[in-house]
Amino acid sequence: MPRCDNRAEPIALYLHIPFCVQKCAYCDFASYPNRQGDMARYCQALMGQMARLAARYGRRRVATVFLGGGTPTLLPGEAVAALLNAARAHFDVAMDAEITMEGNPGTLRTEDVRAYRAAGVNRFSLGAQAAQDGLLCALGRIHRWRDVMAGVALLRGEGFDNVNLDLIFGLPGQTLAQWRETLSQALALRLRHLSCYSLEVEEGTPLARSLAEGRCAPLPDEEKERAMYAAARAMAAEAGLGQYEISNFTEPGWACRHNLIYWRCGEYLGLGCAAHSHMAGERFGAVPDLDVYLEAMDAGEDGVCERARVSAREARFETMMLGLRLTEGVALAAFAARFGQSPWQVWGRALASLTDRGLLAQQGGFLRLTERGMDIQNSVLVELL
Ligand code: SF4
Repeated sequence: MPRCDNRAEPIALYLHIPFCVQKCAYCDFASYPNRQGDMARYCQALMGQMARLAARYGRRRVATVFLGGGTPTLLPGEAVAALLNAARAHFDVAMDAEITMEGNPGTLRTEDVRAYRAAGVNRFSLGAQAAQDGLLCALGRIHRWRDVMAGVALLRGEGFDNVNLDLIFGLPGQTLAQWRETLSQALALRLRHLSCYSLEVEEGTPLARSLAEGRCAPLPDEEKERAMYAAARAMAAEAGLGQYEISNFTEPGWACRHNLIYWRCGEYLGLGCAAHSHMAGERFGAVPDLDVYLEAMDAGEDGVCERARVSAREARFETMMLGLRLTEGVALAAFAARFGQSPWQVWGRALASLTDRGLLAQQGGFLRLTERGMDIQNSVLVELL
């Protein structure tokens, strides 16, 4: 029976912190402005859920912890310390675990950053998005580019040498020259890691409404967006950051270990409202609404919803879909060990056709997308469905 879980492998632990100062125009994440008064209660709830789910899955080894959001940097240092101590009490968190915290550059406070570091946080990911204050303002971001620079300096001064910046391209009205300037400013900071995401306009967001009603500049066309992506790849490479995933670039040896567990179809446990998990051959979510989540935790429930067993067919496809995001591709031996069949036995004709068209290549025991295949990844995957 093919398995998508392996108890010998360590898991990734995700803690969702759903509080923000204000809602950005493009955001459809589970994040709540003006609810910071609930942070202490929420942290207690998270620790309760952690205890209940740890009891269900046992004291699993944890290789990575990720505090994401929302804006985790709204939490005071002692709250982060309490959450990480609880994680160590309930799980076997590795001594060398990668412990990442996401942050909004507009919310960093020296005392708290120092306390995060003392609590064991050893990687930071800042949502920088763009180097032009006009674009940041149009997105509804609370920070400006000077806050990004100050934030990086603060993190460095407090001993963080593993810092990522998140950038977004394809913004309304954004020019290729502006995007190149953003990349150049970000790369000048000489960080270990850079993430460049293409803007997704999500239905129901203020940005989607503004675009539909013509109240903001239009989105760049497809050709310009492709040029922006190409610029990211070229400029990151020039600066010594190699691409290891569709949207991610790093110095050798500094890839995000947490996200690698997701992309290699490993197991992860997500805690907090709207967090997702993949454990013991099942996928499940947590109740998405903050108030419903808090009530469920007060009642001693596990907060889990939409639990579904991952079929062998789904597990195979997910392993390919996620693995092909990585420039290394899908490890053929690991795939065969997990599913008892090689990808060629499952999708022989489709893989041969993709290879013939120069979209896919097999090299050194890995099946990976070529540069051209990476550009049109979605249409490649449709052929494997
Ligand atoms: S800071 Fe991030 S999570 Fe919060 S509203 Fe903005 S995009 Fe959403």
